[in-house]
Amino acid sequence: MTTSLDPAAVIAEFIDAVAPYDPQPDAAPVALLGLRTARGDEMFTLSDHVIRAMCRALASYRDPEDRGECVGCGGRHLDENLHCKNCGRLHGILGQVIADHARRVAASDDGNAPSEPA
Ligand SMILES: [Zn+2]
Repeated sequence: MTTSLDPAAVIAEFIDAVAPYDPQPDAAPVALLGLRTARGDEMFTLSDHVIRAMCRALASYRDPEDRGECVGCGGRHLDENLHCKNCGRLHGILGQVIADHARRVAASDDGNAPSEPA
């Protein structure tokens, strides 16, 4: 995302969107969230309902670049072709096809693919 974000506005909008569904709207706030950005300081008092919703939202977030971990080296940077940038291992269907082919070739002593249908 290249457009500038206003985190305080986003948080305020989140609270506005979630707070109406608070089953205990009169309960005391349970959390105080401070935010300091170039735009200044903001404080948000959060009810139990809102802070739980915020935690769930954060927990379910996944970075668009996050394509899982490499099973080879544990690296976390797979490119859009599920190719590990650290060790070069391929994942996904293409990686599986290549790995299966390599196994068939390796299993064939004389170089002929043994299980190839005629
Ligand atoms: Zn790797």
